[in-house]
Amino acid sequence: MTMDPTRFNREAKPTWCPGCGNFGIQNALKKALNALELEPHQVLLSTGIGCSGKISHWINAYGFHGLHGRSLPVAIGMKLASHALTVIAEGGDGDGYSEGMGHFIHACRRNVDITYLVHNNGVFGLTTGQVSPTGDQGFVSSTTPHGALERPFHPLALAIGAGTTYVARGFSGDSERLAGLIADAVRHPGFAVVDILQVCVSFNPDKSYKWYQERVFDLDAEGHDPADRAAALAATEPREDGRLPTGLFYRAEAPTLEAGLPQLAGAPLVDHDIAAVDVAPLMEGLI
Ligand code: SF4
Repeated sequence: MTMDPTRFNREAKPTWCPGCGNFGIQNALKKALNALELEPHQVLLSTGIGCSGKISHWINAYGFHGLHGRSLPVAIGMKLASHALTVIAEGGDGDGYSEGMGHFIHACRRNVDITYLVHNNGVFGLTTGQVSPTGDQGFVSSTTPHGALERPFHPLALAIGAGTTYVARGFSGDSERLAGLIADAVRHPGFAVVDILQVCVSFNPDKSYKWYQERVFDLDAEGHDPADRAAALAATEPREDGRLPTGLFYRAEAPTLEAGLPQLAGAPLVDHDIAAVDVAPLMEGLI
């Protein structure tokens, strides 16, 4: 069966700044969903606040644009309610690694079968460029006029350390390869994190497409084994030469949270027939 590759397009056009890396990520996501032969009604995007979070407005699928840092708990709830859906949580580094950090760590250890795409540009773009948790030490912004004092943290190391079963990094300037990573992450049965190096042309212009293109490389080229957890952790360490590895860092097999829930064994919760369920005894127990 031939599927219409434009089925994830919407008439509304993104309002991102011209040249923003979010365009490349949106393009990659649509390519990945097409490659996975999914239909729009089978896909649900849960997004947080930030420029990145608006992506759920501009992809033809189910979408929920929630509170700052809260895309993950919403996505997990949606997956548990309707586990036949392909659920993708999405947001920025400010959203997910600042406000949403607690949710991120617990999502890593829960291993619900959802995919988390983080548009990582080192700044809070929507609020005009304040430094984010992945921003460079010394980064000058409206909240750090003398330069950021804190060191950036490394999301991939944290994700592996917290128990994530699929950890990868892509680049917004290579949407073909990023699409492959996203599709692979969606296929992975468990929590999959794809941290995406995203260009913010307006508030982090020093890290331009050229800047990234001179530094990114594929971990595969070094013969990296994603089954080797120690090697994956070592690969997340910053390189002395400044090069930035991309690709699949780590993959492991582990039971998903939902596999342990007997209520989901027969059919998704939303398909259960609840007409004959008598909740009176439960209510009496609560009164
Ligand atoms: Fe993109 Fe940055 Fe503009 Fe936001 S502020 S739309 S991240 S370029």
